[in-house]
Amino acid sequence: MTLSVVDSDRIGEPAAAPASDALFHRAQKIVPGGVNSPVRAFRAVGGTPRFMKSGKGAYITDADGREYVDLICSWGPMILGHAHPAVQEAVYEAVGQGTSFGTPTLNEVLLAEEIVARVDPVESVRLVSSGTEATMSAIRLARGFTGRTKVIKFAGCYHGHVDALLAAAGSGVATFALPDTPGVTGAQAGDTIVLPYNDLDAVRTAFEANPGTIACVITEASPGNMGVIPPAPGFTAGLRELTSSHGALLISDEVMTGFRLSRSGWYGREGVAADLFTFGKVMGGGFPAAAFGGRADVMAHLAPAGPVYQAGTLSGNPVATAAGLATLRHCTPEVYTHLDATATVVGGMISDALAREGVAHQVQHSGNMFSVFFTEQPVTDFESAKASETFRYNAFFHAMLNQGVYLPPSALESWFLSAAHDDTVLDRIASALPLAAKSAASA
Ligand SMILES: *Cc1c(COP(=O)(O)O)cnc(C)c1O
Repeated sequence: MTLSVVDSDRIGEPAAAPASDALFHRAQKIVPGGVNSPVRAFRAVGGTPRFMKSGKGAYITDADGREYVDLICSWGPMILGHAHPAVQEAVYEAVGQGTSFGTPTLNEVLLAEEIVARVDPVESVRLVSSGTEATMSAIRLARGFTGRTKVIKFAGCYHGHVDALLAAAGSGVATFALPDTPGVTGAQAGDTIVLPYNDLDAVRTAFEANPGTIACVITEASPGNMGVIPPAPGFTAGLRELTSSHGALLISDEVMTGFRLSRSGWYGREGVAADLFTFGKVMGGGFPAAAFGGRADVMAHLAPAGPVYQAGTLSGNPVATAAGLATLRHCTPEVYTHLDATATVVGGMISDALAREGVAHQVQHSGNMFSVFFTEQPVTDFESAKASETFRYNAFFHAMLNQGVYLPPSALESWFLSAAHDDTVLDRIASALPLAAKSAASA
């Protein structure tokens, strides 16, 4: 049991972490910002990022030897908990047989079969190494298949660091996107149309304004990258109808939700058949494995069957596919029932603690994914997410961290649970919440 590392008056402030501090200092000298993925740097919440050295079940341990309840689970993949014996065994066995051949292997077929068996509209699937590759390739394929150039995405939806998708124009209907980041050219982002999430009228208007030129609409199946904001009833079905009637493809990005929100991902809950789906996170079991797939006639346009090029030296890597397969096979109905029930309990505990301190908040769920927004109104899109009192989250975050509970280091991210989050874990979260709620209140 980790005791709080600071006194209760300062519980909501960043605390010292000597070993992580030293490592971060070293890392910053030779790695931009000291991290290999920006959100890890704690810039949104302040303080020193914790360097983790091990994980077991629902817990992770940092370089200073402090143990935390993990509510990120590697941003989703560790759905069975850290160092799950069956996944470890599958990985050891795969490693023993050689780690990469640059040839087809059995595991790739098994993993593809597993995906096709779970997500009905996916008839054919291509394995890649990251979610970014999956969405990038799906967009290329949609353009190759339709012979059209433009792409509709929604503000606040994240699809990896694909050039054309790193664009989120200011609010307004059918605004052509300006690049979000230096290094993405106007040409790369110029074919991207960014619309407000949950706004079907905006999509309808964009289709009318761009007849015959929109290749696809890409959407997070149920967004988790601007905090958790589920699609309004009818929104996804409306996208399906509009794309079909205008000859465009619908791409459902299930990199985060796939095989997490049910055995068939968000599709298993809402049942809207997109033309293409993208997967990642859970299906890699903690290794770099991702995929895109969908209608066989569309996928048939992919090389070598068709003309749209796509490839990867480590695609379908034997170790990654072994970890992914073992993970998916252990995601039983009981696991999903447990995850959903646990998410409901944790969400309720957060809500109770904040209500007791009079802090306005919304705990929003999408099945077992959830996040807390500090605002009076339900959050339905990126604008309303950004308008919430994110400064309260920072105090809340550090108060939890200082009591041994590791939350996403940003207010606008989903929280994740695993099969290993049991009653002991719940007790620990419950005992940390009162001081965290107080910190949020006085922020
Ligand atoms: C994480 C994520 C991606 C990017 O996946 P990477 O493996 O980080 O490249 C794409 N789309 C969604 C919805 C994601 O959550």
